[in-house]
Amino acid sequence: MIQGACLCGAIAFEVEEIPGLVFNCHCLRCRKSHGAAFATQVLSKRSSLKFSKGLALLCEYESTGSIRTFCSRCGSRLMNYGKNEMDYLSIAISAIINQGDFRPIGECFVAEKLNFIQLDSSIPHHTELPEL
Ligand SMILES: [Zn+2]
Ligand SMILES: [Zn+2]
Repeated sequence: MIQGACLCGAIAFEVEEIPGLVFNCHCLRCRKSHGAAFATQVLSKRSSLKFSKGLALLCEYESTGSIRTFCSRCGSRLMNYGKNEMDYLSIAISAIINQGDFRPIGECFVAEKLNFIQLDSSIPHHTELPEL
């Protein structure tokens, strides 16, 4: 199980991992919503998501068919999910307690990456998100 929490700790959750599905996303939407040069996303099983506390503080923002969630107290990005697909939940690696356990297997939206970012040449590069 993946254990996660926001920066202030008001929201905590756990969710079942989908082993190995970790991607760096360089798209502008991820950069803006994460406040970062790129976002590392850990895919998990949406049906297994359980909040142990703070669900009432969770805010959702919908854009381009994706719902992005964050803590309304501290602003930490937590997870994304599609409006219509129930299978995948994309967890921001920054929300995970044991962040060091995960390693990306692909670089996504590489055409949009910032110039100073060096892509990992040991993993595949994708123009969009790969088909899962
Ligand atoms: Zn918080
Ligand atoms: Zn993205």
